Amino acid sequence: MSRAIRPTTIGAEKAPAQEQFLNVLSREEAARRFQSHLPMRPLGEEMASLGASLGRVLAQTLRSPIDAPPFDRSLVDGFAVRAADLAGASEGAPARLALNGETIACGVAPTLEVAPGAATPIATGGPLPRGADAICMIENADPDGADHILVRRALAPGQNVGFAGGDIAQGETLLRRGATIGSREIGMLAACGVAAVPIYRRPCVAVLSTGDELVQPGEPLRPAAIYDSNGPIVAAAVRENGGEAIVFGAIRDDEEALEVALRSALASSDMVILSGGTSKSAGDLNHRVVARLGAPGIVAHGVALKPGKPLCLAVADGKPVVILPGFPTSAMFTFHDFVVPVLRAMSGLSPRGEASVEATTAVRILSDLGRTEFVMTALTRSDDGLKAFPLAKGSGSISAFAQADGFLKIDALADHLNEGTRVDVTLFDPEVKLPDLVIMGSHCVGLELVVDALADAGLATRVVALGSMGGLAAARRGECDIAPIHLMDPKTESYNAPFLTPELALIEGWRRMQGLVFRIGDARFEGRSVGEAVEAALNDPACHMVNRNSGAGTRIILDRLIGGARPDGYWNQPKSHNAVAAAIAQGRADWGVAILPVARAYGLGFLPIGEEHYDFAIARARLDAEPVRAFVEALRRDDVLRGLRGIGFTPAADAARAGVR
Ligand code: AMP
Ligand code: MG
Repeated sequence: MSRAIRPTTIGAEKAPAQEQFLNVLSREEAARRFQSHLPMRPLGEEMASLGASLGRVLAQTLRSPIDAPPFDRSLVDGFAVRAADLAGASEGAPARLALNGETIACGVAPTLEVAPGAATPIATGGPLPRGADAICMIENADPDGADHILVRRALAPGQNVGFAGGDIAQGETLLRRGATIGSREIGMLAACGVAAVPIYRRPCVAVLSTGDELVQPGEPLRPAAIYDSNGPIVAAAVRENGGEAIVFGAIRDDEEALEVALRSALASSDMVILSGGTSKSAGDLNHRVVARLGAPGIVAHGVALKPGKPLCLAVADGKPVVILPGFPTSAMFTFHDFVVPVLRAMSGLSPRGEASVEATTAVRILSDLGRTEFVMTALTRSDDGLKAFPLAKGSGSISAFAQADGFLKIDALADHLNEGTRVDVTLFDPEVKLPDLVIMGSHCVGLELVVDALADAGLATRVVALGSMGGLAAARRGECDIAPIHLMDPKTESYNAPFLTPELALIEGWRRMQGLVFRIGDARFEGRSVGEAVEAALNDPACHMVNRNSGAGTRIILDRLIGGARPDGYWNQPKSHNAVAAAIAQGRADWGVAILPVARAYGLGFLPIGEEHYDFAIARARLDAEPVRAFVEALRRDDVLRGLRGIGFTPAADAARAGVR
C-alpha cells in the first residue's frame, strides 16, 4: 500500500478550461479585496430585555447605576456591635452587652442606634444599624438573661461587614462593549438592577442552495437527487457566528428563478450566501446573476485554495454576496475562511478564537503546488504525542467534517508533508475529546453494534475507514488500537492470519456471507447456481457487471468467478458493498458480489458463494489496555451476538461451534 494519502479529490472543480478561472487569486488577496468593500463593523444597535440578551453582543459599555451591595450589611448571623466595646473580650473575661429591642432581618431597615455597650441581633444580609461597626458571630456570644449577651471574642472594626459598593461601586464598569452576554453576565446585570441592555443588531443572512438535484431533508429522494446539506449547515454556522439565518431552501438552476430569489434575498437581508454553481461552465449561471445584482459586483472568482477553488466573492451595494462551492467540504472551509470574519465583524463578535494543538503527521500527505490546502484531520494519541490523520474523503464528503477533530494547513508552496512532520491542527471544537479507542481499517455494519455497546458503557470510539491494508499499517505503526480486516490469502485459501506480523494478534470477529447479487426476477440469475449464473452473465453481451476495487477480498472472489473474462462493467470498481448494491438496484449494473445484509437492505436477489472472515488485528502491546479489553468483551456479549445474527452475520463463536474454519 502506498503510504501517501491524497486527502481531497476535486472532481467538479476541474471543469473545462474555456472561461475557467483565469484570474485565480491567492487566499490573502481574495480576502483583502472582499473586505475592502465592506464596512467590517456592526450594523446597528437595539435594546433587549435582560432575559432576551443571552448570547447577544453588548453594544455599549455598561456602568453600574448603583452600589452593590447598596448598603453596609452583615455577612453572618449574629449581633451588630461596636468593636471598641469588645476590646480585650475573651473566654475568661467576656464583654457584657445590652440587647436593643429589635431584630434586623433581611429587608428590614433598623430603627435603633447601637449605643456604646449595646448590640442588635442581625441576620445575614441585614443592613448595619447606625453606631455599629462590626458583627459578632452568633457562635461567639451567649445569652445572659433575657436582654443581655456575653461576648467571648474581640472583633476588629469592619469584621463580618460587607460595605456598600464593596462588590461593585456605582459608576464602575460592569461589562464592556463587545462582551458576549452569558448567564454570569446576566446575573451581574440583574444585581445592579439593569433590566434592558443595548445589543448589536444581528446581521440577517439569506441562505440559498442552488441545484436541480437538491431535495430538502424530510422529503423523499427522487432518482439522481441528493439532499441539500449545504443549506442547513450554512444556516447553522451563520447562527453560531452571530447572524440570523433566513433560509430560502434550494433554487432551481434557472437564471430567471435565481434572479427573482436573489433579488428578494438581497432586499430582505444584510448578506447573501449561495452555494453551488460556482464553476464558470455553461450550466453554472450563479455568478452571472450575482454579477448584476449591484456594485461593485464580483471581486474574486477562483481562489488558490483546496478545497474551495471555485469560490466567488461579490459585494452588491455594500452587502456581501458569496457563492460557496457546491461540494459540502469546500463550502464549509470557504465559509469559515472568508465569510466568518465578515459575519463576526458585522455582528460585533470578536474574531473566532482558534484553538490548535500540535501533532505529527501519521502518513505522508500530498498536496497541490500553488494552492493553500486544508486537510481534514482526525487526531489520535500515541506514545510520542498526538498523531494527525488526514481523512481522505474528498470535498464531496459530508461525513468528514463530522468525523474530523480539526484541520491542518499545507502551504501553497509545498507539494507534500512528510510523515512525522510537526503540524498545528486547528480544532473545530476547543474542547476536543480524544476517543478512548481508535479503530482503523475495513468498515462493516456489524462493527456499529460493538461500538454501540461500548458507547453504552461510556467509552468513546473513533472508527476511521481505511480499508483492511490501511488498518493493518496503522496498527503496526501504533496509530490505532484495533484494525478490522477481511483479507483472503489466495495461496493458503485462508483469511487474515497470513497477513499478521509478530507484533499483531488476531481476535476473531464474524463471518460475512458473500454472494452474487442481482435484481429479483432477473431470469439470468434467479434460481441458478453461482456457476450457471456467471456463465449466463458472461454469455449475454447486454449484461453489465459491477466489480470491486483491487485489494478488496471481494475482488479476489470476483476475479475467480469470471476467470480472465473482461465483461462490460469490469472497470467499474467501487470501494464498498453498498456502492455495488446501489449500482445494481438502480439498474446501472446487473450483477456483482456483495455481502448478504447489504443485498437484503437493497432488496436484491442473492446466490451465496462463501463466507469471508471479518476479524480484528490488535497490537499485542495494547491487548491489556482497558478499552481494548472492553472491545473484546463486547464482541462476546449476548446482545451483540444476537444483533450480528439478526443482520445476517455468523459470529466466529457460532462458526467454531459448528466446526467451520
Ligand atoms: P455545483 O458547483 O453546483 O456543480 O456543485 C458541485 C457538487 O456539489 C455537486 O455534486 C452538487 O450536487 C453538490 N452540491 C451542490 N449544492 C449542494 C448542497 N446544497 N448540498 C449538498 N451538495 C450540494
Ligand atoms: Mg449545481
